[in-house]
Amino acid sequence: MSDQNRQEENLIIIGGGPGGLSASIYAARNGVAPLVLNGPEPGGQITTTSELENYPGFPNPIGGFELTQKMTEQAENFGVRLKYESAEEVDFSGDKFSVKTEAGEYIADSIIIATGAEPKTLGLDKEDSLRGNGVSYCATCDAAFFRNKEVAIVGGGDTALWESTFLAKFASKVYIIHRRDKFRGAKILGDRVKAKDNIEILWDTEVKSIKGEKKLEGIEILNNKTGEERDLDVNGFFVAIGHHPRTECLNGQIDLDDYGYIKTDKKQHTNISGVFACGDVQDPDYRQVVIAAGSGAKAAIEATEYIEEKENSFPAKKVKMKNQTAEDENSAGAKEEGGLSLSLSLD
Ligand code: NAP
Repeated sequence: MSDQNRQEENLIIIGGGPGGLSASIYAARNGVAPLVLNGPEPGGQITTTSELENYPGFPNPIGGFELTQKMTEQAENFGVRLKYESAEEVDFSGDKFSVKTEAGEYIADSIIIATGAEPKTLGLDKEDSLRGNGVSYCATCDAAFFRNKEVAIVGGGDTALWESTFLAKFASKVYIIHRRDKFRGAKILGDRVKAKDNIEILWDTEVKSIKGEKKLEGIEILNNKTGEERDLDVNGFFVAIGHHPRTECLNGQIDLDDYGYIKTDKKQHTNISGVFACGDVQDPDYRQVVIAAGSGAKAAIEATEYIEEKENSFPAKKVKMKNQTAEDENSAGAKEEGGLSLSLSLD
């Protein structure tokens, strides 16, 4: 690779979903100009959510795509640079970190990984086309749309058990469809499910097909012990069979938990000093936009402090805000002489 395609950066954020964008805003405000590698389809899982009702600050529901656009615009206003490139390979073995994309190589003082996690799918016909129109992968996000309606949820792990009790607060009836005769999830969650009057567990059961053209009209299920098949006329169909955290590009250099999520401490540090992680890629429990954004803020505060304290950081790039005047720029320039100058504001 030629030197022309090798670029030095203080901070690279891999991933342009809510975690990565929030991190970029905090870093830029703290005086570090981050580069966000947000892949060819930016925005993360949130863009597949039709409407969000639980993100603070929006009294009316906001589309996932629209929220991403607003976060991106906010980041760009703070001078954040975004590139539609994907991290293909990383090397975290040295004092400086390398990230290779299809376009070249970046060398950085610090890295924030915000690559997200995608829900596992059943691979059924219409599962994808009816997503957002009756098929959902997040009960916390979508349960309220199924008030007094009948829904089904597939899975037998902690997520399915927790989500089915949440769904039962809204839906008139919840069917849990599990392929075995025993839950994988915690006993306490299983006991809670069994105690709910409006939850029915269908053991040894699989989903054969999804019905509906523009909107979900029901599902067809099969008992894998008796061979009995029947229709369930549900309005909502939730798939909760696990997630796939996106860590392929890390080549085993970061410690992961048993489910493949990045292990972080309370301050978003990974096992490698200077490499941080935020958002769904390190969150097996909640996977919520607001939590991803919060963890992004923490990661950025930690990363900017790390860069400030690092002895041989690259010279600081100027954070150039979109509406910055020449006068503003001069005073910012004075601050930057002699390296990074951070104004951490935790408000
Ligand atoms: P999980 O534990 O891997 O469970 C996935 C479930 O989906 C299993 O019951 C599995 O069935 C079923 N399944 C997988 N593929 C399927 C398929 N193709 N068709 C039908 N069923 C399928 O995943 P998870 O529930 O998302 O939990 C992942 C991690 O998050 C765990 O560490 C969990 O503790 C954590 N978590 C914690 C909380 C909390 O409240 N603390 C909440 C949510 C998640 P089998 O059982 O037959 O394999």
